[in-house]
Amino acid sequence: MQAILDDITAKVTAMPDKGKVATYIPQLACVDPDQFGICVALPDGTVFSAGDAHTLFSIQSISKVFTTTMALGKLGDAIWKRVGREPSGDPFNSVVQLEMENGKPRNPFINAGAITVVDAIMMGHLPKETIAEILEFVRFIADDNTIAIDEKVAQSELLTGDRNASLAHFMASYGHFKNPVDYVLGAYFHHCSIAMTCEQLAKAALFLVSDGVNLSTGARVVSEQRARRINSLMMMCGHYDGSGEFAFRVGLPGKSGVGGGIMAVAPGKASISVWSPGLDRVGNSHLGTIALEMLTQRTGWSVFGH
Ligand code: GLN
Repeated sequence: MQAILDDITAKVTAMPDKGKVATYIPQLACVDPDQFGICVALPDGTVFSAGDAHTLFSIQSISKVFTTTMALGKLGDAIWKRVGREPSGDPFNSVVQLEMENGKPRNPFINAGAITVVDAIMMGHLPKETIAEILEFVRFIADDNTIAIDEKVAQSELLTGDRNASLAHFMASYGHFKNPVDYVLGAYFHHCSIAMTCEQLAKAALFLVSDGVNLSTGARVVSEQRARRINSLMMMCGHYDGSGEFAFRVGLPGKSGVGGGIMAVAPGKASISVWSPGLDRVGNSHLGTIALEMLTQRTGWSVFGH
């Protein structure tokens, strides 16, 4: 495995086209595009890493997998009254479908869906309490108490978050929100701004590899059925309007973020995280996707067959 990761890292870092770093969040525009990290975690917690796998980056929308997991724990299937589970086929920050579906977002992994999930898990608490709870959960599943929020990124999102604010207010206009919109947005921007390394992220995904249990710590995070369902959501909706392309090329449940990270799961085999800040046209890591494509080709880990 180490040899495979070293080889993939050498190949992708030599590629001239690294994609384009997200600029709509000014703090992300400052990130050096010339970075690449990859980590594979086996169910027992053994990790293999290459490149910049120990560098912190903004996990952005990858955090939506964690908040959705929390929402399932707190509300159970009632969460599906508030968000759907169909791929959107539209950009992650799109407004269009919301009007046609009376303010109900298509899935929890687009911005509107993730903002709704935050409203659902907030349950009358203050934003700082909800943020602390989310961070605590991420630390628990990754078995790492050092994981923290990058406050500069959070402030940067807050200052430039007009699109997300418009999504939230639009949904609130249907009377769906139970908490003040600015509370919900504050907690949303903060969970998107959690900073993690590839290694921390691969470990955080281990519960999705082994039917809801992180076998390296023995902690059951979710039921078997929920783990399976979260994986299915990642497969269908984890890369926004690039989800079909990701399934076609990589063949694994995965979730991307505009910070350039991707967290992927090969059920029963391993969790994988890659990071490279340059994005493709729809906002998914350009080199990260290529690297995962190479990895599944070499390991035969695609869920669709060898
Ligand atoms: N925080 C980002 C936003 O709300 C997350 C988007 C993403 O990673 N695709 O726009």
